[in-house]
Amino acid sequence: MTDITALDTADPFARTRALFDLPDGIIYLDGNSLGALPRAVKGRMAEVVATQWGEGLIRSWNTHDWIDLPGRVGERIARLIGAAPQTLMVADSTSVNLFKVLVTALRLRPGRQVIVSERGNFPTDAYIAAGVAELLGQGHELRLVEASEIEAALGDDVAVLLLTEVNYRTGARLDMAGLTAAAQRAGVLTIWDLCHSAGAFPVDLSGADADFAVGCGYKYLNGGPGAPAFVYAAPRHLEGLRQPLTGWLGHAAPFSFAETYRPAAGIGAMRVGTPPVLSMSALDAALEVFDGVDLGALRAKADRLFELFTDEVKRLAPELQLATPSEPARRGTQVSLRHPEAYAVMQALIERGVIGDFREPDILRFGLTPLYLSFAEVKRAAEILGEVMRTGAWDQPRYKVRAKVV
Ligand SMILES: *Cc1c(COP(=O)(O)O)cnc(C)c1O
Repeated sequence: MTDITALDTADPFARTRALFDLPDGIIYLDGNSLGALPRAVKGRMAEVVATQWGEGLIRSWNTHDWIDLPGRVGERIARLIGAAPQTLMVADSTSVNLFKVLVTALRLRPGRQVIVSERGNFPTDAYIAAGVAELLGQGHELRLVEASEIEAALGDDVAVLLLTEVNYRTGARLDMAGLTAAAQRAGVLTIWDLCHSAGAFPVDLSGADADFAVGCGYKYLNGGPGAPAFVYAAPRHLEGLRQPLTGWLGHAAPFSFAETYRPAAGIGAMRVGTPPVLSMSALDAALEVFDGVDLGALRAKADRLFELFTDEVKRLAPELQLATPSEPARRGTQVSLRHPEAYAVMQALIERGVIGDFREPDILRFGLTPLYLSFAEVKRAAEILGEVMRTGAWDQPRYKVRAKVV
């Protein structure tokens, strides 16, 4: 039996736990869906609202450099995902950024019309890709294949390979470096969705030589509900970068109010309209939590939490089937368990203070976020899950009523 107290006492991330505000009596295993609140965000929001907005008024675009916030916050994220300086912009949502990079990439491969993606990718990725294919309407199509068929699908009609590194439902992780190399050999551009990667473990976009990437600010980056997303382009694509949403803040000189659009140099061309200063400031403050954090050590703790949780569940609730690959290289940091009544089981858990979530059709999802989770909490969550299963406490009509957001 592992000594849980010893693990928590020796845990270097006890320091970052103290940087978060978490309610008493809650074990929060949903940081893969909405990150917890870093304390620094409260102070920053109060300051930005009262001082920067309230007193500075419009002057703050210059005096507090609101105008360059998207690039500045981008630099903080760049370090976490192996992006070179000035290759990352914080802007819009992941969905909108997917639209921008998909059209950009397709235009870089004229004569090829196919977007390949994985069946079971997050819906917005497939929806946006299908929408882009329809919009361009020159024989463009989205082709969805199984993970094992991706390499074989990279024929000479394929322009873009659009993949999410870590699957939102199962937590399975694709081989970003290997698949990017295979795509390059086939003349195919890659777009990586890092929503379940950024802030969860070390990502190396430069090392993998990926072409484009997008990702989310509100999951492992803890930027708050609806936080702005990020968009990355490899240095080789920055010169003459053209994206389809030619808004004024992606212009080379927005305040010249010129009659015609001329893209900003570099990644600045990915900007569209006025940045949401409040939510971008929240994300900026949230990212301070990562200062001095070794992502390798973060991942190592996530792996130990994973092992602890899955071992305990195997013992206490053997009827739950692990849907996540157990081999560390083949997964992200969430644990997905299958049960035909997964929704009801999760509602019973939430009522007992263990917050995870449900994904169709039968997945119980638990996010392991080492920045603010202790070994004791993860063990306790497994015990409560075991109890809910053993007693059948989940089997009540009120746990089966679906909420709007699951
Ligand atoms: C969460 C998530 C998104 C979210 O996109 P939004 O535009 O922020 O709603 C996109 N892709 C993946 C893989 C996700 O997990």
